[in-house]
Amino acid sequence: MELYSGHINKLIEELAALPGIGSKSAQRLAFHLINMPKEKVNRLAAAIVDAKENVRYCKECYTLTDKEICPVCANGRRNHAQIMVVENARDLAAYEKTGKYEGVYHVLHGAISPMLGIGPGDIKLKELVNRLEGDVEEVIVATNSSLEGETTAMYISKLIKPTGVKVTRIASGVPVGGDLEYIDEVTLLRALEGRTEL
Ligand code: ZN
Repeated sequence: MELYSGHINKLIEELAALPGIGSKSAQRLAFHLINMPKEKVNRLAAAIVDAKENVRYCKECYTLTDKEICPVCANGRRNHAQIMVVENARDLAAYEKTGKYEGVYHVLHGAISPMLGIGPGDIKLKELVNRLEGDVEEVIVATNSSLEGETTAMYISKLIKPTGVKVTRIASGVPVGGDLEYIDEVTLLRALEGRTEL
């Protein structure tokens, strides 16, 4: 016997497939959405489709942006010879919020994880190496201190060292497994200042 209508079941199913949303939250959200005024629902649906259609990767750093080149890469006052490698756009945002980092970024969109079957070819590593053909002095590896983040850092170090570009790693002090976005600005800056050469 179906408890709810097929339409609601479908909605619950789609919501439950989102990260961090269990079946209870999915049900709560589904009923909330059904009870929302139609204009509000339309606005939400349009915002989702609009973001999906218009957000793309920055041609240089691969962060998410709605322009060809993101505002950080387009800024001539940033130090383009210093590239900080992060796992995702949220980590980039965490460092940008400190307002103290003057270099540019490279967003990998993931980390190497043999367990999950994510290899070097599945993240934006080739794109990072391509950027080194320009004038790059330092690559700061700011991947998370999780197993995947450390594996990725080691891989990047091995990949880049032969090119002669300096590779550094942010200091630990960033809690193990901690997502960079949840770490306060002081800790982030300390990790950045305490970086060591790999
Ligand atoms: Zn960019």
